[in-house]
Amino acid sequence: MTVTAPFDNSYARLPAVFYTRLNPTPVRNPSLVAYNEPLGKILGISPASETDRAAVFSGAKVPDGATPLAQLYAGHQFGNFNPQLGDGRAILLGEVVGTDGNRYDLQLKGSGPTPYSRMGDGRAWLGPVLREYVVSEAMHALGVPTTRALAATLTGEDVLRETVLPGAVLTRVAASHLRVGTFQIFAHRGQIEALKELTAYAITRHAPNADGPLGLLRAVCAAQAELIAGWMSLGFIHGVMNTDNSAISGETIDYGPCAFMDDYHPDTVFSSIDQTGRYAYSNQPRIAVWNMAQLATSLLQQMDDPEAAVEEATQIVHAMPAQIEAAWLDRMGKKIGIAKATPEDTPLIEALLKLMQDQQADFTNTFDALARSDARDQFLDRDAFDQWSSEWRNRISQESDPNSVMQAASPRVIPRNHRVEEMIAAAVQGDYTPFERLMAACTDPFGTDDTDLMRPPTKDEIVPATFCGT
Ligand code: AMP
Ligand code: MG
Repeated sequence: MTVTAPFDNSYARLPAVFYTRLNPTPVRNPSLVAYNEPLGKILGISPASETDRAAVFSGAKVPDGATPLAQLYAGHQFGNFNPQLGDGRAILLGEVVGTDGNRYDLQLKGSGPTPYSRMGDGRAWLGPVLREYVVSEAMHALGVPTTRALAATLTGEDVLRETVLPGAVLTRVAASHLRVGTFQIFAHRGQIEALKELTAYAITRHAPNADGPLGLLRAVCAAQAELIAGWMSLGFIHGVMNTDNSAISGETIDYGPCAFMDDYHPDTVFSSIDQTGRYAYSNQPRIAVWNMAQLATSLLQQMDDPEAAVEEATQIVHAMPAQIEAAWLDRMGKKIGIAKATPEDTPLIEALLKLMQDQQADFTNTFDALARSDARDQFLDRDAFDQWSSEWRNRISQESDPNSVMQAASPRVIPRNHRVEEMIAAAVQGDYTPFERLMAACTDPFGTDDTDLMRPPTKDEIVPATFCGT
């Protein structure tokens, strides 16, 4: 029985200016590595054999009802505008409306070249595919908006990077793949009708109550503010916050050289290509605002009275730092047991972060210990902690159930970078045990008792740099 899905492809019904229709490039010998059963059920995807799943989710066979296409977009990469990017190694199969009533994109990533591949081969290797699979599913379980992983397949073909590596395809599920860069390309080209149509489409899909382009901008800024606060509260560093990797839906998208930090430091950078630390942990709020300014600039091109609109758009973007701050305060307050933190609580949170930074305390484990055991053990200078702790205990004595609040806000496990790398190295050798184990813990991050995966890396185990690996 082959794979069927209840396709309803609204993007493919838009004019051809938005995309290029083409099928994934068939692969030689597909095999299934992972399939996300619960997600497949939400999407209304039929049960099917492993062989049939491998064929469809590697791009070897196009399912009935799909209208495969590569999407066009532009983007600022590390601050520099690239007037044309587009899906260079991804194909949108189509959309389904899930059993939850939500519309989802189904996209294959690593499915062969497209007209937008530029110098690339359109392929992905197993490492980045499994990294995105694990980290995106972890992000979902951690309660932060994200694209999700439906399937990972091996293509049976080699991919040439620094070495020869096993080719793989990720099937990604998203609220949509509309990016800031999708708007930028039509604004940049002066294709105002296309820009208007895209804006109307985005409003229907993501902000049905929004009043026009500026209403959309307001909704996207709010969603991005929540998203960034979510990342900050987990010690997550996206690594490539280019405008083409910034989703209108407010989901985390395009997991490349991303990582969660171990010991806390605001300047933490993992990505090997981020030489200047543009996308360092503590820069993420600023960059999100910058990205929204680019969205505003693009949206404004379609306004009848740009002068008046500029002022309102500026206000919307300028309101964002305070929105991020409020969302951050809410999440960080909960992590120290304060159900509804107010700005008066900010110094207490910042004092703890400073202590963690000075003493290289582990981000995840410190908050886990506050919530569930004794955080004192996380610090070398116990006196400094005790001082903070007495103030803290004083503050949370006013809270009704601080422990439950903390436990719901602080995970026990995140996919630590050295574990992700270890998992990839094993998978390349055909051993998926570390993958299964990491998935089991990271999809139950608040309940797991896998103490080995909670442990920070030893000095020898630290993996300080990540690579796009595309
Ligand atoms: P990223 O920042 O990784 O999301 O990718 C930036 C751009 O490069 C996008 O247009 C991608 O489609 C394209 N790209 C990345 N890797 C490849 C590849 N192996 N082949 C073709 N295009 C690629
Ligand atoms: Mg991208």
